[in-house]
Amino acid sequence: MYGTVKDELAATLKEIEDAGLYKRERELTTPQAAHVGTAGGSSLNFCANNYLGFADHPDVVAASRNALDEWGFGMASVRFICGTQTQHTLLEQRLSQFLGMEATILFGSCFDANGGVFEVLFGAQDAIVSDELNHASIIDGIRLSKAARFRYRNADMADLRAQLEAARAGGARRVCVVTDGVFSMDGSYAPLDQICDLADEYEAMVLVDDSHAVGFVGEGGRGTPELFGVMDRVDIITGTLGKALGGASGGYVTSHQEVVDLLRQRARPYLFSNSVAPAVVAGSLAALDLVSGSSDARETLQANSALFRDLMTDAGFELLPGSHPITPVMFPGEDGARQAAEVADHMLAAGVYVVAFSFPVVPRGKARIRVQLSAAHSEADVWECVDAFVAARAAVG
Ligand SMILES: *Cc1c(COP(=O)(O)O)cnc(C)c1O
Repeated sequence: MYGTVKDELAATLKEIEDAGLYKRERELTTPQAAHVGTAGGSSLNFCANNYLGFADHPDVVAASRNALDEWGFGMASVRFICGTQTQHTLLEQRLSQFLGMEATILFGSCFDANGGVFEVLFGAQDAIVSDELNHASIIDGIRLSKAARFRYRNADMADLRAQLEAARAGGARRVCVVTDGVFSMDGSYAPLDQICDLADEYEAMVLVDDSHAVGFVGEGGRGTPELFGVMDRVDIITGTLGKALGGASGGYVTSHQEVVDLLRQRARPYLFSNSVAPAVVAGSLAALDLVSGSSDARETLQANSALFRDLMTDAGFELLPGSHPITPVMFPGEDGARQAAEVADHMLAAGVYVVAFSFPVVPRGKARIRVQLSAAHSEADVWECVDAFVAARAAVG
């Protein structure tokens, strides 16, 4: 019986609304792309994780469409019962090769990968040392393990050392440093070279969630371990197929053979959840082919990101420093949250889709509009976005 629960939930919803935190979904009437249709008309899209423009890439779509005929629609099974097709194994092998690791295990999402990995590898005798800005799925995954938890200030190596010291002083058996490769609100990188040095000093493993990097960061698109020259030093990488690599769904853990073998035996989101859909596996394989076959999309993405940064800086906007296609345009101070929200609304009305973030998603006084560049954008699209920022700033004041 629903009873008084109805009113209680309605009150909670009202609290969310009153706090200005109610999230409304804007329906797209088209595929995900640089230009999308919405009920209000056509928009230039600068808020998707479609970094390489593969979400509607003809090769990816064709591979996925062919897979429907060749491999069917659904698996209707977990992997270990009757849910592993040849192509699931192939995708795992291809990810291992691409990322330079021994073995890979697919999950339904990176959220699931992070939800499964910690509990299997770390118990009450162990310690996990985690960056304070790590993704929600890492935080939840760590909570599911019984390991002692230590948190360090974002990318702060002195604090990481202090926390490693504390973990070792507590007599931990295994210690693992856990970080996002890229922090999604800032577009900043975890300093993986220094993290690996400290981990070596304290005999700790290193786990990197590279969801916002795989496919486009680093010379070959192999992610932040490649960018920092530590591909042979990171022990565990988690990542998503739901961003640059086609953007459909699916995640993975890639690591040492024993880690992956044990995850296949014990990881609960792997054992008790359906296999990644055949058409998604095929599309992801096609996306990996594109990434490893050519650097064109990566170069276009870098050029667009650099152009946007240059033009916005020239126009007098304050950007967080960096080079990642996540480009935060800052609206600091007391009134920043309102300004950012109004600028974003104004831009949307002008056909440029960007999203403002304020407290509690980012620290108080650090409101921003997070612009995400894509290889699918043309130079003209980037100019149009900058022009829309300038016009919106003038209108909002
Ligand atoms: C997007 C993201 C995830 C979640 O990936 P899904 O495959 O969509 O579940 C996990 N971790 C990080 C760092 C992310 O950016």
